[in-house]
Amino acid sequence: MLRGEALTGWEKYFTDESRRCGWADALAFPRDAEEVCAVVEEAAGRGWPITVSGGRTGIVAGAVPEGGLVISLERMNRVLGMGRTDDGTVTVRCQAGVTLQELQTALGQGSFADSSDWDEESRRILAQLRHEPCFFPPDPTETSASLGGVVACNASGAHSFGYGPTRNYIQGLSVVLADGGLLQLSRGQVVAGEGGSFARTYDDGQSRRLRPPRYRLPQTKNAAGYFSASRLDLIDLLVGSEGTLGIIAEVELRLRRQPPFSSAAMIFLPAEAAALELVGKLRRSRHETGLVAVEYFDCHSLNFLREHRRQLGATSGVPECLPEVADCALYLDLTAAAEELPRTLETVRREALSEGADPALCWSAHENDERERLRLFRHALPEAINQRIAAVRRRYPEVTKLGTDMAVPDDRLADMVRLYRQSLQRAGLCGLTFGHIGDNHLHVNILPENPEEYQRGRKLYLELAREVVAMGGTPAAEHGIGKLKKDFLELLVGARGLSEMRRVKEFFDPDFRLGQGTLLE
Ligand SMILES: Cc1cc2nc3c(=O)[nH]c(=O)nc-3n(C[C@H](O)[C@H](O)[C@H](O)COP(=O)(O)OP(=O)(O)OC[C@H]3O[C@@H](n4cnc5c(N)ncnc54)[C@H](O)[C@@H]3O)c2cc1C
Repeated sequence: MLRGEALTGWEKYFTDESRRCGWADALAFPRDAEEVCAVVEEAAGRGWPITVSGGRTGIVAGAVPEGGLVISLERMNRVLGMGRTDDGTVTVRCQAGVTLQELQTALGQGSFADSSDWDEESRRILAQLRHEPCFFPPDPTETSASLGGVVACNASGAHSFGYGPTRNYIQGLSVVLADGGLLQLSRGQVVAGEGGSFARTYDDGQSRRLRPPRYRLPQTKNAAGYFSASRLDLIDLLVGSEGTLGIIAEVELRLRRQPPFSSAAMIFLPAEAAALELVGKLRRSRHETGLVAVEYFDCHSLNFLREHRRQLGATSGVPECLPEVADCALYLDLTAAAEELPRTLETVRREALSEGADPALCWSAHENDERERLRLFRHALPEAINQRIAAVRRRYPEVTKLGTDMAVPDDRLADMVRLYRQSLQRAGLCGLTFGHIGDNHLHVNILPENPEEYQRGRKLYLELAREVVAMGGTPAAEHGIGKLKKDFLELLVGARGLSEMRRVKEFFDPDFRLGQGTLLE
């Protein structure tokens, strides 16, 4: 464990992609769950708060410490074995510090560096995997994220339209609790029945029960607050708890069979209304078309990309052929069996044409390298926005990115799009609206030019959050609450809901030492 002056030079462990900087008294790099238990016990003895550091790709400052001990899990990077559930689903067991990139690469190659240490059953399943490739569906874009962080944030991304969020893929967890105890859970093992509760015995021999939260969460993609559901599985409560209930040391992930064929398309459209209509049609035919992602670029986003291309040329990642006439665009990812592909593509083509898409202007990508080029194009927008904000920050360091992360139910999508467009206009702010329209989850990126616009943008952000919650939506669909969006939690669940969350927190962490400053005060 590093302490005091020995921490100089290790500052990168005290920040994340929010760019907020924290401080700590000590930094530890355990190698396995037992070592995590030992450092947690030591921290408990010293009364230190504990912050878990995964890949530090979070953008709401959850991994940014406010004193105490930082536990980095980056040395817990072994894949421990494979298994099969009762329903035949292949699972993989990993230490929490394995990154998404490492897992995806190994699954893609059907080969794991650690497999020589695996038991026979794991090696047998791995051999089968070479004939029946599998993948881990959650794809929160930034592949340097750790699996522990992905679980702690219930991460999702473009493909959650087809596959749902991380929670759907968690079969088992090993979690170190605030007192240093190790909790090992398999799905279905600890479930609070209707009106039921979870029980726990503490070090002093006292036993307490926890009634799971009763608040109703939005029926949308959501990463805000502790999960609530009838017949709640304890695993589901821990997933998405942002490092405030326990330290995830190991995960067992459910994998899916790799679809035989994947294809991507970019459909340019003449108007916002046409895009919304097309999204409705695509949603209705989703099972027929094997659609896994539907992403949106509004007119300001396309104009921003055109300008970026004019300034940077080919290095911008934006192709020269980006149509000048299009108002907005939808990006699609489809999967299919080879024999179904022509029918699938024809369905999508017919629906796009019926909304005024010009086939001569649309792009499609079937081969791996073509799909990769399209993927890079999709990522060119957030990267261009980051560059713009970085340029403004050189003059005004107090300005940060203002990107919303809200989702609404299906029937409120058009209202949300209208709300964003009209509110930006009224506030006189430049904003780009893009993202996961299939899940009614669009990011508005407000681009302030100076501190005054930044303050106006922050005010607008809060107003939008209120409106979205009033529509039955969530203010934090995938990035979580962290330390930066705590105001939103009360908006979502009210004062009563907040006190239910505090009860959950007290049950797991009576001294409020885990993830201090994250989620709850
Ligand atoms: C360019 C970019 C794009 C992104 N796109 C998406 C996206 O599409 N979808 C999405 O969901 N997210 C997205 N994110 C956010 C981020 O990548 C995810 O939230 C990711 O899951 C965080 O993982 P991490 O390992 O980096 O966690 P960290 O940032 O290290 O930590 C995040 C939180 O989880 C806690 N934590 C980390 N590890 C553990 C553990 N083992 N046990 C308990 N708590 C832990 C931390 O204390 C903190 O509160 C994006 C980020 C970037 C930079």
